[in-house]
Amino acid sequence: MVVLIICFLVFFFGFAPSMVEKSLNPVINKPPYRVSERAAVLHEKLLVADMHADALLWNRDLLERSEISQVDVPKLLEGNVSLQAFTVVTKSPRGLNIERNTDETDNIFWLALAQRQPLENLSSLTKRAVYQAGKLKEYSEKSGGKLVLIKTKTDLKNFLERRKTEKIVGGFLGIEGAHALDGKLENLDVLFDAGFRMMSPSHFFDNDMGGSAHGTAKYGLTDKGKELIRRMEARGMLVDVAHASAAAIDDVLAIAAKPVVVSHTGVRGTCDNQRNLSDEQLRKIAKTGGIVGIGFWDTAVCGESAQDIAGAIRYAANIIGADHVALGSDFDGSVKVPFDTSGEALITEALLNENFTDEEITKIMGGNVIRILSENLPD
Ligand SMILES: [Zn+2]
Repeated sequence: MVVLIICFLVFFFGFAPSMVEKSLNPVINKPPYRVSERAAVLHEKLLVADMHADALLWNRDLLERSEISQVDVPKLLEGNVSLQAFTVVTKSPRGLNIERNTDETDNIFWLALAQRQPLENLSSLTKRAVYQAGKLKEYSEKSGGKLVLIKTKTDLKNFLERRKTEKIVGGFLGIEGAHALDGKLENLDVLFDAGFRMMSPSHFFDNDMGGSAHGTAKYGLTDKGKELIRRMEARGMLVDVAHASAAAIDDVLAIAAKPVVVSHTGVRGTCDNQRNLSDEQLRKIAKTGGIVGIGFWDTAVCGESAQDIAGAIRYAANIIGADHVALGSDFDGSVKVPFDTSGEALITEALLNENFTDEEITKIMGGNVIRILSENLPD
């Protein structure tokens, strides 16, 4: 019996976390990735930005190349990615059902336990978020200037200046779901101080701030949720409506005074499901001056190739213009993707195939994200 228990513990704490990561985040086509000369030349000139990756959830050093990751710093540099949003998941239900979930199960509890995170993380979602933010800060500090944490307009400006001559990557922090506040609006200050600059009201289940597209009741914003939006805007945090219920998206759009973003999504025009945006939602989001990050996984674009991703981008751009469309891969977010981030040039090539101009591609691949951040981050 004792031997059995020891075997279980060795497996649970030793091997389970990386096995889980490997099984949840497959890459369909492995590098090296090849693109046309034309795409390669254009891609090298771009400032590429991605609005969503959950890499901090996993137990590995982002400064090292991993065999199982979709995102790490060496791959970002190889893919010529300048800016990566590191988005944090604090609680997710078993099964991640796209139609309907309750908040009764908590996968991240087990992951936090298996990763031997501080005990306080087991009972507090705010602590789980702050812990993951701390990891990014640590990586940044020991990166020798290669990974730059971006929290303010000045940080971004300085980063872009350095980026002209140096191969470096910037990271900014986001959160999936305001349950990360542990029910207390005051905790927004804690999250802000930890560096978070983007957050969605909900993730896979309805919470006390608002309904989820994958919840049971799918209600709109609660009064607390409305107060949250006001406080986020006042602090210079981007409001992200990814995963929000249709009612919650409407409620956010009704009160938003600043651009609203969708960090990772698909569009119903090319992929009709619960999770993806209607043409009308696209128009309303663009009207706030916001941007929509198109995801790289199958239920976002109903396909498993760079061309399918570019097809969704083309559809969205036809409706709202190239100024409002961006990338939101969801790398390392428990999704199967066609390539890892070192293959980002495949998107540039696919956008050329969709007959976008170089100027439009420059905006879609990163220019729009940089514009939104430089106008909306705190000073
Ligand atoms: Zn997500």
